[in-house]
Amino acid sequence: MPNTKYIFVTGGVSSSLGKGIIAASLAKLLQSSGFSVTIQKLDPYINVDPGTLNPYEHGECFVTNDGAETDLDLGHYERFLNIPTSQANNVTTGRIYQTVINKERRGDYLGKTVQIIPHITNEIKRRIQILGETGEYDIVITEIGGTVGDIESLPYIESVRQLKWDLGRENTLVVHLTLIPYLAAAKELKTKPTQHSVKELMESGVSPDILVCRTEHHIGEDIKRKLALFCNVDKEAIIESIDAETIYDVPNLMMKEGLHTVVLKKLGLKTEEKPILTAWNKFLTNYKNPKETVEIGLVGKYIELQDAYKSILEALEHAGAHNQLRVNIHPIHSEDLNRKNVEEKLKDLHGLVVAPGFGDRGIEGKIIAVRYVRENGIPFLGICLGMQMAVIEYARNVLHLENANSTEMSRGTTHPVIDIMEDQKMVTEKGGTMRLGAWDCRLEKGSKAYEIYGQEIISERHRHRYEFNNDYLKILEDAGLKATGFNPKTGLVEIVEIEDHPWFVGVQYHPEYKSTVLNPHPLFMAFVKAAAQHKG
Ligand code: GLN
Repeated sequence: MPNTKYIFVTGGVSSSLGKGIIAASLAKLLQSSGFSVTIQKLDPYINVDPGTLNPYEHGECFVTNDGAETDLDLGHYERFLNIPTSQANNVTTGRIYQTVINKERRGDYLGKTVQIIPHITNEIKRRIQILGETGEYDIVITEIGGTVGDIESLPYIESVRQLKWDLGRENTLVVHLTLIPYLAAAKELKTKPTQHSVKELMESGVSPDILVCRTEHHIGEDIKRKLALFCNVDKEAIIESIDAETIYDVPNLMMKEGLHTVVLKKLGLKTEEKPILTAWNKFLTNYKNPKETVEIGLVGKYIELQDAYKSILEALEHAGAHNQLRVNIHPIHSEDLNRKNVEEKLKDLHGLVVAPGFGDRGIEGKIIAVRYVRENGIPFLGICLGMQMAVIEYARNVLHLENANSTEMSRGTTHPVIDIMEDQKMVTEKGGTMRLGAWDCRLEKGSKAYEIYGQEIISERHRHRYEFNNDYLKILEDAGLKATGFNPKTGLVEIVEIEDHPWFVGVQYHPEYKSTVLNPHPLFMAFVKAAAQHKG
């Protein structure tokens, strides 16, 4: 597509500077100025996708409608832009090499030596342009994971260099995100690390068009002038990115600094419109002016790492803001919970989320937590494994099926109330083989879920291998645990509820992936409202 413009976002000096948030904020401003924009992430690691990575390694694994297991930055892209991403929006080095090696085996390169340049770089360039070629987007933003100078990043930077040449300077732009550290002892902001990282980028043949400078203190005109001079960047293209109170402030901060104006000018794009952030800012006003506070517990086994449950935390914030509630989240380690301390740990909460997960570490703690909130009328939202734990808890403590379990945790359990899905039984490879992506669910009229969604057929994203065992459906329902959502084709139970509990909902799917700033998820909205009611 000759009309598509490509913006590349690279990072220098240090990791964790928030490239994803800068890319998403820039995209938001361009989108709000009337352009159609998407964002893609290129990850330099060799895993084919992050689905096989432990959350401790790389944070949450995000899932798209079309079933891609992706980097968590795609969650930010969707939450900011309010449009879904897809398989094409996240590409890893593993995926690139896999494609090239498969082609080599097929004989596509017969006679040729297959090399990083041009074969790997060509595949990277193809993957970058796939989104542009759909014709759906005026602008494609490609975030390059890692830090400039890493061995892994080199083929990506070389691909950017070539694309600038292939597509022309007026159609491509490099935004380099760096850090301006503050030395407290000298009371000074330092530009040298940025100069070095720009030099590093230039050694690979790429000069940045725009520098976005992360800083804890305002950088001032002098520093901007200095950076412009030594980094070969226009002064108006030196953009300060000061620490923000919330990531959702960043689009406004970038607008004030004129990031989108410089971008549009450099790409030769004209628009009469100033970014219109009315709905976004209404969200921010509500977010910053809560009328009340609710205390929500999040039980999981990766709670030491904030990024492990990113989408759940964000979905709770969206739902809170739209209800003018501040949601204070209390992470609770499932391994720390036992019968003796559960009351102490959970009694002051107004709602409890039990998180998704795999394997048996910490599951007894999750079951103890579910029992406590079930017996004490505290609003409960169980997500995926959290829903499965609710089923096990009910089977054990209400139906007295003592060893009820999931066959994931106990293969030979006498009461497999959660069991492996039929089509998973033959699966031997771990990567990309779960039940993934969006599937329809039909809601039972008269249920809480039906009331919350306000429609009969919904579509939600999934990532699991085990399911509610329908052999136990009747006895569980007779005992009060109702299945209120089913896959219309297979009968797989998607939702369970307890009728005589103020708010007890377990879902096999992941509602958190679909919550955005402008479209908070109805289930999280209803859950935080129930928590506020419980408090009242
Ligand atoms: N381990 C469970 C399964 O595979 C739950 C998965 C999850 O919580 N995402 O079914």
